[in-house]
Amino acid sequence: MLPLEPQSIVEEARKCVLCGKCLAACPLFLETGKEEDSPRGKLFLIANLSPLTPRAAELIFPCFLCGECEKVCPLEIRIMDVLLSLRFYYKLPLSFEVKELSEKEGKKPVYPGCFEKTPEDGMVPPGLVCSGFYHLLSGDLETYKKCAEQNVRVLKNYPGIEILCPLAFTAISLYPVFFGDEFRVDIRGEKALKIPPCFFNIFPERFS
Ligand code: SF4
Ligand code: SF4
Repeated sequence: MLPLEPQSIVEEARKCVLCGKCLAACPLFLETGKEEDSPRGKLFLIANLSPLTPRAAELIFPCFLCGECEKVCPLEIRIMDVLLSLRFYYKLPLSFEVKELSEKEGKKPVYPGCFEKTPEDGMVPPGLVCSGFYHLLSGDLETYKKCAEQNVRVLKNYPGIEILCPLAFTAISLYPVFFGDEFRVDIRGEKALKIPPCFFNIFPERFS
């Protein structure tokens, strides 16, 4: 159950033995090569900087939230529970406008994300808004929930809808984790572990 208690977050992070098995699985670390971007680096900061300073939160929060690290950790550390629970207690001072996606007529229902190109035959159902990934990322769960409510209302009418943006796929997959089973929708998405450029543009100083 999320969120973990603050003390449990730290205890879970302290289980990390810094073996490094998770490094090769983390798309963010593979992209930047910075230790603080790795799951190991994040757990180290969480374990040793409690309570988190705003600076530590800035280092830890940029994360693809893909869960690949947890799949390979030999100690089965609940890395995702740690990374997601932090969002209940801390917030990065970022604000993002909730954008409506432009609807498009076509045969195949898709959720394009903000910047993804829709395929020729793709249709974008009316009423969709941004997935809320960046709201989740920054700990703004209130706005993340508003995005979830609106999108779930629409997506329930389109079983098997394909999600084109990997960040949106993550955000929509996590709706039920945060808000319960009624937020579960039937989505498909080849979750290519590539981080779109928008991710780095959100944190220009952090990733310059
Ligand atoms: S694989 Fe697990 S124990 Fe090893 S460094 Fe990564 S999080 Fe720590
Ligand atoms: S959730 Fe994904 S991006 Fe974040 S630390 Fe784990 S592997 Fe890296």
